[in-house]
Amino acid sequence: MNDPIKQRILIVGGGTAGWMTAALLAQAWAGRGIEITLLESKAIGIIGVGEGSTPKMRRFFDRLGISEAEWMPRCNATYKCGIRFPKWSTRKGYQSYYHPFFSHDDDVTIRAFFQNVTLRSRNFDVHAHPDAFFVSNYLARGRRAPLPDATTGYSTDYAYHFDASLIGELLKDYATEHGVRHVVDTVTEVRQHENGDIAGVMTEASGLVEADFFVDCTGFASVLICKTLGVPFHSYKDVLFNDRAVALPTTHDDDTLPSETVSTALEAGWVWKIPLTNRFGNGYVYSSDFLDEDGAERELREHLGLLDADIEARHLKMRVGRVARSWERNCLAVGLSQGFMEPLEATALMVVQDTVETFMQRYEQGGFSDRYRADVNDKINAIFDGVRNYIFMHYKLNSRDDTEYWRANRENSNVPADVARILAVWDKGGDLLAELRAQASRLVYSPTSWYCILAGMGRFPRSPKKPKKKLQVVDPREAQAYCEGMLAHFPDHRAALSGLGAAA
Ligand SMILES: Cc1cc2nc3c(=O)[nH]c(=O)nc-3n(C[C@H](O)[C@H](O)[C@H](O)COP(=O)(O)OP(=O)(O)OC[C@H]3O[C@@H](n4cnc5c(N)ncnc54)[C@H](O)[C@@H]3O)c2cc1C
Repeated sequence: MNDPIKQRILIVGGGTAGWMTAALLAQAWAGRGIEITLLESKAIGIIGVGEGSTPKMRRFFDRLGISEAEWMPRCNATYKCGIRFPKWSTRKGYQSYYHPFFSHDDDVTIRAFFQNVTLRSRNFDVHAHPDAFFVSNYLARGRRAPLPDATTGYSTDYAYHFDASLIGELLKDYATEHGVRHVVDTVTEVRQHENGDIAGVMTEASGLVEADFFVDCTGFASVLICKTLGVPFHSYKDVLFNDRAVALPTTHDDDTLPSETVSTALEAGWVWKIPLTNRFGNGYVYSSDFLDEDGAERELREHLGLLDADIEARHLKMRVGRVARSWERNCLAVGLSQGFMEPLEATALMVVQDTVETFMQRYEQGGFSDRYRADVNDKINAIFDGVRNYIFMHYKLNSRDDTEYWRANRENSNVPADVARILAVWDKGGDLLAELRAQASRLVYSPTSWYCILAGMGRFPRSPKKPKKKLQVVDPREAQAYCEGMLAHFPDHRAALSGLGAAA
């Protein structure tokens, strides 16, 4: 630590972002004389949604030294093998596709998939739907947990689903046990030094709370980063149309438990279905330019078979985009305060983790100095833009013709430059891997994920011809037999979770 004078950090906001930040900072620094305080307002409350993660969440809990047996039962958490996307494409054979999580142990089937996809994109008639090639898809279909028995020598990557408020409670316990001071109060005013840095926050009951460094976790209100420091907000609305959501829980339909998120396209957006151990979380993400609140709730209820059910729906507004700089002066914005992309790939908490870890890494090198600020901001902005690009591709590739919403998405000419290059190379059957490698420093999703979405949505030339004899084509039945053979080595999802509960 090269700046021993400045040692008070104040985190404003106690949603998932606030408590994740508190837990990470406490784990790394609390023992080193840095005083960390988290201040949250009970009157304002948290957003309380955000139930899916990416595989990065595994590294988060590993870092904190919290085992799955400790946290998963407490948060009604389940395993997530990947995400299924029904009804985004109308092309025959491609009406649904699955975005798998995978590991290096999947290299053989991934190579087979790439081989067939490359031929199919050059207009040869070979099977190139990703679903046939990934163990993860078969695990999800078979409602298995992604935990192979030791005999296989195989491992796969996975993520989680969980109850957002329970995870906040768990992290609050962790952080406070590791020395984080917890203050419940509402900020009424933010005080600045003459040079513009933040000096402290005035609260309703506790007076002025001062600190040397501030973390803005105030959600969409962005009390410190936007309202006080005036950092501009870049909207993604021209690229991602959705700005509203309506959420409704449902009960389980049978004794087995899915191990995937299902994201089904509806008339003006899509609906998530996320399995927790005690219920499903469901929510319709849509664009207010194409649908109003009543219409969205009606369509969601219809989709869930809940038209007459007495379950209250929650309506949410989403500010979609990012701040120009997450780190400004002596303030770092983390979570919804720094930006948000709609939850199609459940990336928000991954960005929280990336932001805090990147900041901590640079702090270790340069203390609270501004030395690495631009570097941190560039990295975080690249993550936001990279995720936006991948999410946008879902909309660009849709082939639905039933509503204006889907046509407008497909015909949207505000195509980010990197996405335009990917599409151009793909559409002419060029070397997409080379293009993705050229974009590597800005790419958040791996080439495999890009190939999966392009192939899975059926973005291929029409009227393919028979492959020439000398071309090497992989028979999808071989991949299928291999993947199905693996299933026997994975436990039933519900049984695996019950085992975890027993071990806790
Ligand atoms: C519809 C929807 C679905 C989502 N799905 C996912 C998903 O599947 N996966 C995922 O990773 N993310 C998802 N997210 C995002 C996720 O919900 C958030 O990233 C996460 O909950 C973190 O929110 P937050 O802590 O930044 O903000 P919030 O939960 O809004 O917390 C804000 C905090 O700031 C405090 N605060 C605000 N103003 C003041 C003040 N004046 N004084 C004191 N305290 C104040 C509040 O009390 C609260 O504690 C989703 C978001 C939406 C909208």
